[in-house]
Amino acid sequence: MVDLKKQYEQIKPEIDKAILNVVESSQFINGPEVRSFQQDLENYLDVKHVIPCANGTDALQISMMALGLQPGDEVITPSYTYIATTEVIGLLRLKPVFVDCDPDTFNISPKEIEKAITPKTKAIVPVHLYGQACDMNAIMEIAEANNLFVIEDNAQAIGCDYKLADGSMAKTGTIGDVGCTSFFPSKNLGCYGDGGAICTNNDELAAKIRMVANHGQSKRYYHDLVGCNSRLDSIQAAVLRIKLRELDNYIKRRNEAADYYNEAFADVSQITTPVRSGQSNHVFHQYTLKLTDDVDRDALVQFLASKEIPAMIYYPVPAHRQKMFAQLETTCHEMTTTDWLTTRVFSLPMHTELTTEQLNYITESVKEFIRK
Ligand SMILES: *Cc1c(COP(=O)(O)O)cnc(C)c1O
Repeated sequence: MVDLKKQYEQIKPEIDKAILNVVESSQFINGPEVRSFQQDLENYLDVKHVIPCANGTDALQISMMALGLQPGDEVITPSYTYIATTEVIGLLRLKPVFVDCDPDTFNISPKEIEKAITPKTKAIVPVHLYGQACDMNAIMEIAEANNLFVIEDNAQAIGCDYKLADGSMAKTGTIGDVGCTSFFPSKNLGCYGDGGAICTNNDELAAKIRMVANHGQSKRYYHDLVGCNSRLDSIQAAVLRIKLRELDNYIKRRNEAADYYNEAFADVSQITTPVRSGQSNHVFHQYTLKLTDDVDRDALVQFLASKEIPAMIYYPVPAHRQKMFAQLETTCHEMTTTDWLTTRVFSLPMHTELTTEQLNYITESVKEFIRK
């Protein structure tokens, strides 16, 4: 699905030097690279505060802790997402309120959010799934009208530009109260291990997030609240500084691959290619297709595997059907679209190193199966 080796080879001299520098400095934790990366990312995202942490799941957990959410508070979330989004809600004993998504963009539906609000609702967690922004203008309007926090799960969409209601542009992750991202190796901005970050324009919240991520510490050895230990290490920060400079180019490469796929499948009536919404660009973390009901999706995926094409199903089981939530109090609203999508979607290889030859082989193989 990704080709991290080939991507590394393009930037090898810089990366090797940066890693070696950290090793020679021996400042593995909180070294100068971490602060520099934080500033680079603040500039790139045009946001006041970036707080690096250990991974994207921690970023979500720390954000919810720093916002002071309490057990029993209701948090509205899509069910159609990677499990981390909803898992942390359960971990903190908040109450996940699952709502359906839009069949075209795959993102949480603002109309369904509105229907799910109760006096106990405290927050909404929009997930910019597969690399395209949620309908943030509608979501922010609902949040303001109902006094709710917005925690953006931006793990799949770093670098995505969104057009705000006033016509100006903002990066996803900087629109809500707080944005969370992941630098897992296969993410659009991936490091060489685990990593994550939280961003916010709110000074007070940023200070609280820093404390929560650092044992609730206000000054050294003084711990004002129960927090956790979640850090980005210096080697990962050094790698990320270099890869951040490539991010816009990476996004361009992903869009070129998506364009190729779109064109190749334009005349295949059984396939619906991803939509690009007018409000944001698409950064194509995944290239995810929908199949009509007459195509045997699982057989197609197997057929592709037999031709050494790694197609994947994101996600075969939506959160509201996961066993982990059977033990917790949740609310599940209507899930017609989510339940349907999980049987009909599949994702093709999407990364920065796809060649025309590979793209041709992949698209021809898909067509071969469908025409059989
Ligand atoms: C990857 C991902 C996460 C979690 O990130 P980790 O760094 O793996 O903890 C959270 N949400 C979404 C939507 C993701 O894709």
